[in-house]
Amino acid sequence: MEKEHLFKVLVIGDLGVGKTSIIKRYVHRIFSQHYRATIGVDFALKVLNWDNQTVVRLQLWDIAGQERYGNMTRVYYREAVGALIVFDVTRASTFEAVMKWKEDLDVKVTLSNGKPVPAVLLANKSDQSSEGLRTQIPKLDTFCKENGFVGWFETSAKENTNIDAAAKCLVGQILAHD
Ligand code: GDP
Ligand code: MG
Repeated sequence: MEKEHLFKVLVIGDLGVGKTSIIKRYVHRIFSQHYRATIGVDFALKVLNWDNQTVVRLQLWDIAGQERYGNMTRVYYREAVGALIVFDVTRASTFEAVMKWKEDLDVKVTLSNGKPVPAVLLANKSDQSSEGLRTQIPKLDTFCKENGFVGWFETSAKENTNIDAAAKCLVGQILAHD
């Protein structure tokens, strides 16, 4: 029997880190320098043929305009089963904000068994060389362990690097908890 899952996944992180670009790349296979900043919440659906028995429908929730407040309403988080938390490797302040996003997530939503929802960390814009943050990257393994991320990936929405891999990692974790 084929099994079909619908998973609500949040894409969060500071303004300009590349959330919308990552979703567009992942779902629509395109990249553009300019996306209109729609105010509110936007959705995109990605269907994955996970294996012979399993179809995964990923509902990706984008945010626009509210990132500046560094937190979202509970309504936005409701029933989410996973999150991609994004920072921009060229801007250290966006990495510092990652913990704030993770805390907001953990405070506002948990799985039905009470556990935190799996979150994967994305170090985006890896196509732009940045010595400063590059030196931090070896420490990301430790950072993830200490802060409850299931893993991290260096991604580029521009060059389509590691976005599929990051999503796959997250879905694997979600299925393991399901
Ligand atoms: P959001 O505010 O988090 O949704 O960020 P956007 O997706 O709107 O991206 C902000 C800016 O960063 C845009 O000009 C994008 O073209 C650019 N951008 C996003 N991802 C990448 C990337 O991987 N590499 C580069 N070089 N630019 C990116
Ligand atoms: Mg956006």
